Formats: sequence, structure tokens, C-alpha cells
Amino acid sequence: MKVLVVGGGPGGLFFGILLKRARPDIAVHVVEQNPADATYGWGIGLTDSALDALRPSAPEVVSDLSDGADVTDEMEFTLDGKSLRVHASTFYRVARIVLLEKLQQWGRAAGVTFAHNERVETSDELAGWDLVVGADGVNSRVREMFSEVFKPDISYGNNWFAWYGTAQLFGTPSLIFLNRPEGVFVGHASQYSPDRSNFLVELSPEAYYGARFDTLGEEASRLRCEEIFAESLHGGRLYTNKSLWFQPKFVRCAGSWSHDNVTLLGDALHTVHPSLGSGTRFAMRDAVYLVDALVSASWDVPAAFRSYEESRRDVAEAFQRAAVRSIGWYERLQDRPPRDLAKMTLEYVMRTGRVRYEEFRRRNPEMMSAYETPQP
Ligand SMILES: Cc1cc2nc3c(=O)[nH]c(=O)nc-3n(C[C@H](O)[C@H](O)[C@H](O)COP(=O)(O)OP(=O)(O)OC[C@H]3O[C@@H](n4cnc5c(N)ncnc54)[C@H](O)[C@@H]3O)c2cc1C
Repeated sequence: MKVLVVGGGPGGLFFGILLKRARPDIAVHVVEQNPADATYGWGIGLTDSALDALRPSAPEVVSDLSDGADVTDEMEFTLDGKSLRVHASTFYRVARIVLLEKLQQWGRAAGVTFAHNERVETSDELAGWDLVVGADGVNSRVREMFSEVFKPDISYGNNWFAWYGTAQLFGTPSLIFLNRPEGVFVGHASQYSPDRSNFLVELSPEAYYGARFDTLGEEASRLRCEEIFAESLHGGRLYTNKSLWFQPKFVRCAGSWSHDNVTLLGDALHTVHPSLGSGTRFAMRDAVYLVDALVSASWDVPAAFRSYEESRRDVAEAFQRAAVRSIGWYERLQDRPPRDLAKMTLEYVMRTGRVRYEEFRRRNPEMMSAYETPQP
């Protein structure tokens, strides 16, 4: 059996590793358009529940991914200069490039072959393989090739994002909210290596156009964001890595998840919002489900595709609904600018409905008793 994986992101790489481990005699080939050591963006966060969910399928690989990662269960919220820390999910932060390099190493060790700097463009290139997996991200070419079958439902978020790095170390992941005349500005910051943090800037359309970011290039935008967030950055620099403004693209495949011997996983199949910080885990979990389906169907590809979709679609759609609630929360900030730090923090924590009030209260008794005590 010969398997082609289009895209060497976390989803495609993890799929290759798991497949090779399940059936070492299968040839698994990953085609990736970028060089082996290139990536966009900076660091990503994985929660302990994400790692726990992935661990049983490849314990040593998952331990390696979290080895040396920064770990914390605290989050800091800042509103117009005032800050509050709470206990929230436990987060492991890693550089995306380190995650990809580790997965590539595990893939090579398992016998996966790679072609970097190669881009799949046409369906002719998918011929001759017994199984093809489109793991080629949010702008998936494979999804486009068979869009009449996958029926992608594509939309864009209203808010604008630019993804920077900084040497200012946000050891506690931080959400920074600034009410400014142009609108609400949000900085999502977290350390992911000994000397670097992510700094993702999120703006409502009012803030984006009001501050004229639509007229600024990458460097001018960086400087402007540095100025605006100077207090939180302690006057430090922001760094760019293809840090162009974007509105997140949301993908959901309303049609079948497979066509003949071709299927999709990860962002190519369905995205979650950056604010949920779960796209990597989501893509890697798809890989687990797909390999499990192949093993359970004794490598009968059509039967495996049916079971992959049956077992994964509901969970995936529930997760996407949580992402929509998260997006909505951020997008509504412009109409209801946050004024009270504790209230805003609580609303943030509860925004997707996945965290229980009582559980949060148990973990943050001081903050919650201050919040619940009526003010004179
Ligand atoms: C600003 C931002 C912050 C984020 N933060 C987090 C976070 O904290 N935690 C988290 O879990 N997730 C986060 N995510 C989401 C996460 O990055 C993605 O959901 C995840 O990378 C999806 O994995 P994937 O393997 O499906 O796709 P990708 O990681 O996009 O990988 C797809 C790969 O396919 C390659 N490719 C594309 N087209 C072709 C082609 N035609 N031929 C060959 N190769 C091709 C691409 O170069 C790429 O390497 C964030 C995303 C953004 C934008």
C-alpha cells in the first residue's frame, strides 16, 4: 500500500507517524511546499487535556513534544492597565518550528519519506497512490480539487489579526484589552521559548480602519502596534514573521469527507478559531481517528473513510460551535467595550460554555468572592 500525505503540518506529520507505526510495511510519503525548517507564526499552546487526548496513540512522541515546553495553569487579564491573574487550563507552549521539527524526526525514524519544497497542484499528481490525505491546511488545494464532493462552507471572521513575536517574556499567558478612541484593541501574549513570546494583535474592524492599519505595510503596522501596546511590552520590540493582517478563514466541509481514495484532515477539513488555541490538537486528533479507522477496517479504505467521518464529525462540529461562540465573544467587544476587569475575565472564561462556573470558582476563590460580594 502507498500513501501520499499532502502537507507537512502537525496533522499530516502525526498521521504519517501513526500510520507507519501501525503498518511499517506501508509506504508513507509527505509532500510539503515549504523547506523543512520554515514555518509561519511563532509559538502555539497545547492544553494538558489536548496532550492527554493525544498521548495514548504515541506516548513517547507526545512526551517529546511537551518536553522542555513552558507550562503554566495561570492566565493574566489586563484591562486598560489593570491586571488580574486566574487559574485556568494548564498550557504547554512550544515554538511551532520546534513542534514540526520534532514530528519530522519521529516521522523519519518511523520510515516516512519527505519531499520538501514541492507543491501539489493538480489531481493528476494524486494518481498512483492507494490513499491520499489532504493535510494541506486552511487553503487546501486537495479540498479545492474535489470541492463538489467536500462542499466546503467558507467564511471569514470580522476581526483583523497580526501575529508577532517579542522578546518580552509573558511567562503567564496574557490577554491585554485596551479601550482606545478607535475601538477595542486586544493583545494575546504568551511565552513559548526561553527568549520569545507570541504577540497576536486582534482588532475589531472599527479599530483596524479607525487606526488606518489598512493603509500601513508590515513594518509600519509593527511599529504602530509596538507603540499601542508599549506598556505591556515594557517598551520592547515586536518582531515580524510574515506578520500581515488577516481575517481568519473558517472552513467546514458540509459534504462527504472523502472522495474515492482521497480524504482530508486538520485545517483542510475544518478549522477552529485562533482564540481557542486548539487547531493543532484538532488536526492531530483527526490523524488519530483516521489511523484508528484504517486499523479497525483492516485497511479497507472506503470502510475506513466511512467510519472516520461517522466517529469524528459530531465531535468536530461541537468543537467548531464552541469556536463560533469564542469568535462571537471577541467580536461583540466593540459594541460592549469591557469596563470591569473581573466581569470581563469571567465572561471570557465562560464564553464557550466549556468551563463550568463552579469549577472556575473552586479554583479562584479569592477572585470570585470579591466578584460576588456586592459593592457598597
Ligand atoms: C494566529 C494563529 C495562532 C494560532 N495559535 C494556535 C495555538 O496556540 N494552539 C493551537 O493548537 N493552534 C493554533 N493555531 C492553529 C494551528 O496553527 C492550525 O490549526 C494547525 O497548524 C493546523 O494543522 P494542519 O496540519 O491541519 O495544517 P497546517 O499547520 O496549516 O499545515 C499545512 C501544511 O501544508 C502545506 N501545504 C499547503 N498547501 C500545500 C500544497 N498544495 N502542496 C504541498 N504542501 C502544502 C503548508 O505549507 C503547511 O505546512 C493558530 C493559528 C493561527 C493563524
